[in-house]
Amino acid sequence: MKYVDEFRDGTLACGLARAIAAEVRPSRDYHLMEFCGGHTHAVSRYGIQDLLPPNVRLIHGPGCPVCVLPIGRIDSAIALAQEHDVILCTYGDVLRVPASERRSLLQAKAAGADVRMVYSSLDALRIAQETPDREVVFFAIGFETTTPPTAAAVRQAKALGLKNFTAFCNHVLTPAAIRGILDSTAPEGTGRAKGARLDGIIGPSHVSTVIGSRPYEFVAEQYQRPVVIAGFEPLDVMQSIFMLIRQINAGRAEVENEFTRAVNRDGNHKAQTLVAEVFDLRPAFEWRGLGVIPYSALCINAAYGDFDTERRFPIPYRAVADHKGCECGAILRGVKKPQDCRLFGTACIPENPVGSCMVSSEGACAAHYTYGRYRDYRDAGPTRKAVND
Ligand code: SF4
Repeated sequence: MKYVDEFRDGTLACGLARAIAAEVRPSRDYHLMEFCGGHTHAVSRYGIQDLLPPNVRLIHGPGCPVCVLPIGRIDSAIALAQEHDVILCTYGDVLRVPASERRSLLQAKAAGADVRMVYSSLDALRIAQETPDREVVFFAIGFETTTPPTAAAVRQAKALGLKNFTAFCNHVLTPAAIRGILDSTAPEGTGRAKGARLDGIIGPSHVSTVIGSRPYEFVAEQYQRPVVIAGFEPLDVMQSIFMLIRQINAGRAEVENEFTRAVNRDGNHKAQTLVAEVFDLRPAFEWRGLGVIPYSALCINAAYGDFDTERRFPIPYRAVADHKGCECGAILRGVKKPQDCRLFGTACIPENPVGSCMVSSEGACAAHYTYGRYRDYRDAGPTRKAVND
């Protein structure tokens, strides 16, 4: 196949649905987590769950970058913009993520702070060059996909000798999060929040173009769970589900790659070298919903310390609990669904999010609100109205 619409072909999807149904054993359940927010969006948008037998359950994972950003880090960004008078630059979705007391960077901007939306880290660098009398902070978030552009901006700032540019690094690591989730399925008494039962993992697309398939091999070897790296189109996701079910039925646990048109075993060596040049591992980092996971995030290393916001500004970190009605934590661990939250579609909607999962189109709550809430209505029958219809 060559063109994107071929990966959305309904006839082929029906054929794959029949192949999955033929492969599935009625005597057991299959709990498959799509780690990545892009897959969560695709699953909701194309109604993939509806094409699967009822004993194949898709579980949304924590792979939406803004969803896993803890409230304390957003509070720190707001403090930087309001108390240190910096120009704070970041990606659009981050501006709307609720922080403490339901504040957000967007509200800080409305109250006079200089908060700017950028499309890339290099936009922030350009702003620093154009305003040499102001401190510019790039609020850097995301998984391995957005880490190389931050590294490029920091390296470029050093090459240009910029004195007014730093990056507030919040980049996180996919394999460590998968380990955190799998550890949370460990028996009671291990001290971690309880996670969902997982029989297999649909591996991320874009992240894997950078890191390759090799970093997931521990999932198969140490946790005996299969992984299939999948592209973002609906046929990619369905083919990956088929491959996972085939592995599970055969009692195999291997890393397979469905997304061969973009991912290989070793990933993008140039991007990995750039990241290794600028960043170190953090010993610990708090994730929303998953708690503190060791060695799961990056910080700017000593060689580039002059461009590290956390070294230039005193921004003490304070862990903050989610809104008490919000179920984002349980949703990010895969133990609840968006419709299990009593705020879903009432107090919490994309225009007025209470929790982080309702902000980005990759968030499980936002995706279900956009594409799935009318299915809830259909499934509940005529006596129940869909939320917010
Ligand atoms: S619906 Fe809103 S409040 Fe509920 S879990 Fe989702 S984001 Fe949190």
